[in-house]
Amino acid sequence: MTMTGTEVLDHWIAGAPHAGSGTRTGPVYDPAKGEVSKHVRFAAAADVDTAVAAAQEAFTAWSQVSMAKRQQVLFAFRELLAARQEELAHILTSEHGKVLADAGGEIARGLEVVEFACGASAHLKGEYSVNVSTGVDVYSVVQPLGVVGIISPFNFPAMVPLWFFPLAIAAGNAVVLKPSEKDPSAANWMAALLKEAGLPDGVFNVVHGDKEAVDTLLTHPDVAAISFVGSTPIARHVYETATAHGKRVQALGGAKNHMLVLPDADLDLVADAAVNAGFGSAGERCMAISVVLAVDSIADELVAKIRERMSGLRIGDGRRGTDMGPLITGEHRDRVASYVDVAVGDGAELVVDGRTIEPDGDPDGFWLGPTLLDRVPTSSRAYTDEIFGPVLSLVRVSGYEEGLEIINASPYGNGAAIFTNDGGAVRRFQLEVTAGMVGVNVPIPVPVAYYSFGGWKASLFGDAKAYGRHGLSFFTREKAVTSRWLDPSHGGLNLGFPEHD
Ligand code: NAD
Repeated sequence: MTMTGTEVLDHWIAGAPHAGSGTRTGPVYDPAKGEVSKHVRFAAAADVDTAVAAAQEAFTAWSQVSMAKRQQVLFAFRELLAARQEELAHILTSEHGKVLADAGGEIARGLEVVEFACGASAHLKGEYSVNVSTGVDVYSVVQPLGVVGIISPFNFPAMVPLWFFPLAIAAGNAVVLKPSEKDPSAANWMAALLKEAGLPDGVFNVVHGDKEAVDTLLTHPDVAAISFVGSTPIARHVYETATAHGKRVQALGGAKNHMLVLPDADLDLVADAAVNAGFGSAGERCMAISVVLAVDSIADELVAKIRERMSGLRIGDGRRGTDMGPLITGEHRDRVASYVDVAVGDGAELVVDGRTIEPDGDPDGFWLGPTLLDRVPTSSRAYTDEIFGPVLSLVRVSGYEEGLEIINASPYGNGAAIFTNDGGAVRRFQLEVTAGMVGVNVPIPVPVAYYSFGGWKASLFGDAKAYGRHGLSFFTREKAVTSRWLDPSHGGLNLGFPEHD
């Protein structure tokens, strides 16, 4: 590994880069080269205080800005983001490693949420009832929360923040984003774009760092809510800590997504779907398929079809038009690769070994090729752990019932898919499976922006999913107003509980 990067990425506070007082920094790698491209500052608690104070100050004015003006700023941001998405895609590829086309896909899904936020006014309406009692009206008012903290993972450095901040801002809140320290530059790039779009300084701030920055946000008295996305152990910590400090919390966690293949499915389409969903973004997607549950009678044929497709994949530097890039760090690559031996030791069959590939890229890159394991025992750690890499496990099942039982026994419940042409099986599956997002012949069922994204069980702590209706209600609170315009006929004393007349 070589060290070339001398740049140090600052925080972004009150509309400008901010060095802060923290003395620690972390390395940011170009994963396809295996070298440090820059460093990023790690915020001290005092730096988070500065960002929260800037957000708090900006909130007072921003919450009073008209809905029309807020939407205009978001619309301008949407136009800038759409026009300059290639620039952002290059940042994503250079720090995350995902191939350029996939980086473009991430931005497209983020743009959807910005577009939804541009029409947020349609969803931020209260209700009004006339004469709930004689001369008495009741109506509801929707108001922002204040300063909201967003903490995001490395695997979608643009899309995951975009799941949250456009809606938080549309609703009149101010934001402090703590992106992953592994690929932090996209956050500053989006912050500068928001400023260019006309967002007042302080409404959107970025603090970089690790646990110290996160824990300061989770316990800060002036932070009203936390939106977190990351691994399950950290999501649990975030949920428990921030709720204990009186905050509203949505904490999206890890996943282990299954795809159940019934014998009547079109196995060519299934094999395409398994390869795309298993190895896209090197398996570093919370909605990646990591387990194919194949009914015995078609399992051999399906394994052959998946293997054939894997042999055609081009692995290498995502700037060179390859299909799959490197993993995020050398440490993560080694951890993912270690599961191959675990699985084989537990009795799995190694069908394709990604540890031996020759990538189209720098030999120092964090490479691991697509790996296929068959007959993985569900007792193996290779099955139970979230691997988060290009390792696809196949588990053979006797039929629908056993497949469903395995999925529902998982502690995770993010996505689950069924592949079949049997409408009755599909109907049962969508009602019986314990996952928050269900695919019917769709391997990665990420909902569009006007639905909401989130899993069940250990894949989501808290009541609100991300974006869509859930997102707007998470970033607002409602009050109900009971109103009567008095005239002399309304006088008189009555100490009883108010009744309607
Ligand atoms: P991670 O949990 O390591 O990090 C997420 C965030 O938490 C980062 O900003 C990180 O700096 C911070 N963090 C890390 N350790 C911390 C600690 N001890 N205390 C406080 N904060 C800490 O996750 P990751 O490796 O960046 O991302 C991959 C994980 O995210 C996978 O588990 C994946 O399934 C999950 N994920 C889930 C979803 C979803 O929608 N459910 C979406 C994307 C990613």
